[in-house]
Amino acid sequence: MSAADLAPWNGAAGADFDSCPKVPALSIVAPCFNEEACLAEFVRRVTAAAQAVVGTDFEIVLVDDGSRDRTWALMAGLAAADSRLTAIRLARNFGHQRALAAGLYSCRGDRVLVIDADLQDPPELLADMMALMDAGADVVYGQRRHRAGESRFKSISARLFYRLLTRLADVDIPVDTGDFRLMNRRVLDVFRSMPEEFQFIRGMISWIGMTQVPLQYDREPRLAGETGYSLMQMLRLALDALTGFSVLPLRIASYVGMLTGITSVMLLAYSIGSWLLGKTVDGWTSLASIVLILGSVQLLVLGVLGEYLGRLFMASKRRPRFVVQEVCRVPEPRPGSTA
Ligand code: UDP
Ligand code: MG
Repeated sequence: MSAADLAPWNGAAGADFDSCPKVPALSIVAPCFNEEACLAEFVRRVTAAAQAVVGTDFEIVLVDDGSRDRTWALMAGLAAADSRLTAIRLARNFGHQRALAAGLYSCRGDRVLVIDADLQDPPELLADMMALMDAGADVVYGQRRHRAGESRFKSISARLFYRLLTRLADVDIPVDTGDFRLMNRRVLDVFRSMPEEFQFIRGMISWIGMTQVPLQYDREPRLAGETGYSLMQMLRLALDALTGFSVLPLRIASYVGMLTGITSVMLLAYSIGSWLLGKTVDGWTSLASIVLILGSVQLLVLGVLGEYLGRLFMASKRRPRFVVQEVCRVPEPRPGSTA
């Protein structure tokens, strides 16, 4: 495909996927990173679940996030054999949220199911989600009751993170909720119009509002393979979420600054007083403590400022959020065409 052909896949405004005139009732979007062991079974289960609810009127959009195993080859093979399946290959590993965004920008359905490719979120819940949406919901999000097969560290850190985020965030972001959700076209269109660079997609969907209802489920262990989220990536996602949805850390930074400012003035008065009274030699312990405390508080405050400033700087470049290298899709025949 030429660069011009790929433009709509890269999220260009007014994208027109000319070869596919029909809008399916449902799109299923899954980002995949090193999922060669899960992919075939994932497509099989998702297809069965979708068929049970909407017949053949659905599409599956798989995004290969720069996998280093055979994920792309498998995906392209599946897409070549089935016109309902689209395989999108990103130019490198852009990370889960950007890969998901790439899928969300190019799906066409009336409703969109976002799901992980490792089968931790059971596709069979689709029927319940569709029923809740028929009853008037704009978004149905999966809320995890239990997380099986994940390390203690991961479940505890995730629990703590979601609770901290709800405290700090300016919008109501439901706890224990990942990106597994069904949303309708209205919500998707608003999401697509949001230009922010550092996307914390579940938070952005919450921010949109409308009618959002939870569906409780038990998170299963990964079918195969390993988690693509390293500790650093989890930390980055957490920082993107906090800085993207709250300025409270900045405010806390200035409060801490004020507090230490007041304390320093008092300490200054105290040390001048002791100098006047001729008691200047002893007290190096307190002096050392003050220097250490002040120094670390300053660094902390600078660090918080840096987190926001860094994101502003990166966002000011206005780079695309991801780059699509290749797309594999068999065009559906146009209605009425003889080809
Ligand atoms: N993923 C991705 N890019 C990455 C890491 C993960 O597209 O850099 C995909 C992965 O294939 C899976 C989903 O995002 O479909 C969730 O990732 P993972 O299962 O590794 O995270 P966890 O469930 O352990 O939080
Ligand atoms: Mg997973």
